[in-house]
Amino acid sequence: MAVKVFLDEKDIPRQWYNLAADLPTPLQPPLGPDGKPITPDMLAPVFPMNLIEQEVCTDRWVDIPEGILDLLYRWRPSPLYRAKYLEEVLDTPARIYYKNEGVSPPGSHKPNTAVAQAWYNKEFGIKRLVTETGAGQWGSALAFSCAILGLECKVYMVRISFDQKPFRRLMMETWGANCVASPSSETNAGRTILQEMPDTPGSLGIAISEAIEAAVSDTTGQTRYALGSVLNHVMLHQTIIGLEAKKQLEKIGEKKVDVVVGCAGGGSNFAGLSFPFVADKIAGAQIKIIPVEPTSCPTMTRAPFSYDHGDTAKMTPLLPMHSLGHGFVPPPIHAGGLRYHGMAPLVSQAIVEGLMEPLALHQVECYEAAIQWAKTEGFISAPETSHAIAAVIREAKQAKEEGKEKVILFNWSGHGLMDLTGYQAFLEGKLVDYPLPDEEMQKSIASMDGLPKPSTAKSGKW
Ligand SMILES: *Cc1c(COP(=O)(O)O)cnc(C)c1O
Repeated sequence: MAVKVFLDEKDIPRQWYNLAADLPTPLQPPLGPDGKPITPDMLAPVFPMNLIEQEVCTDRWVDIPEGILDLLYRWRPSPLYRAKYLEEVLDTPARIYYKNEGVSPPGSHKPNTAVAQAWYNKEFGIKRLVTETGAGQWGSALAFSCAILGLECKVYMVRISFDQKPFRRLMMETWGANCVASPSSETNAGRTILQEMPDTPGSLGIAISEAIEAAVSDTTGQTRYALGSVLNHVMLHQTIIGLEAKKQLEKIGEKKVDVVVGCAGGGSNFAGLSFPFVADKIAGAQIKIIPVEPTSCPTMTRAPFSYDHGDTAKMTPLLPMHSLGHGFVPPPIHAGGLRYHGMAPLVSQAIVEGLMEPLALHQVECYEAAIQWAKTEGFISAPETSHAIAAVIREAKQAKEEGKEKVILFNWSGHGLMDLTGYQAFLEGKLVDYPLPDEEMQKSIASMDGLPKPSTAKSGKW
């Protein structure tokens, strides 16, 4: 029985898959402050035009430039593993497979888009990228990408993580990035907040505002902003994961996948694995496709499909997405990458269509799953990834009850070697669940009152 399936570099996928081409109900456009669809030139100070074109592209297949493939070969194709040791312990008839995205230099799926975004920016003549980071996974992916392409990189890191997670910051600095705590005194947004709340721990919303301001206020025009999830072009770049997985499953003779699972913060690693299988489902295949989120930040399972801003300071256009409201402050769970108020428009529209079955899980169950994983498969998972593992264990147990030989595929989105404080809390018995009280959620959702509502029309096929 094969435990690992490799692809030769020559067999790497040479095109990304774009779900926007196949969604039965088309994606709805982002809106500007006047409620009208935004035009590409409105985004030009923030992103380079080649990425803006990709953001609105509806071609089914998009060629991956050779220059980007050259960057991806550093760790891709990533191996597909069979979770044989977990299967044995669960005594399940299911066959469980996972893509190991922890093999990238920064240790997660995020560099799949970070190297592509850095490459397109460089092609466009940009010299410097600015971004924000919460726990540091995205910041380190962009720092790595800028290092190998010779771009400058600036990262606004949420104050509390900056103080509590020095190792991710040191990774960014090792790759040559300049990382400052947010709010900082370098931007108007940061200075305003520091004046009002000198001791604030910061938030992703504030850090996004600082990064966008820093990018658009460079008068030389050589700086742009980069975002690590949510946007269409990010989902596109991540589909290389699912396209590789298809080739690998075929290589070992698996003809059909029954269940596809990924954890979802902004939606990119889940989309990257699942979208090629969503295409099969649209074409008639029977596949259960499960994005998993924390119960403390229940965007897909409890929040409405609405137009909302991507950031707290309302600097971004309005995106059609499941959202808890741009002012939402998630409880302090350890899976920092899953603490985002919105969800990628492409994932949201597919949920509206009924193509996906979102699931919310408590963090204690996820850590239990991550510990079981560590003691069987061996790898120590990121707290985000543990949500996918817990859902897979549920599915494998159900397959046992039903006596069915299901094929389960999931995305092991990254390792947790920089996130051991969460494991420490669990092992010391200090980890608690944070179900979100309805009252609190309604208050946050009310911040979207008065914003336009996207259509919830669907084909009715699923
Ligand atoms: C950032 C991150 C996530 C969540 O982000 P998505 O865009 O939803 O994929 C999940 N897993 C890991 C390891 C991450 O670093």
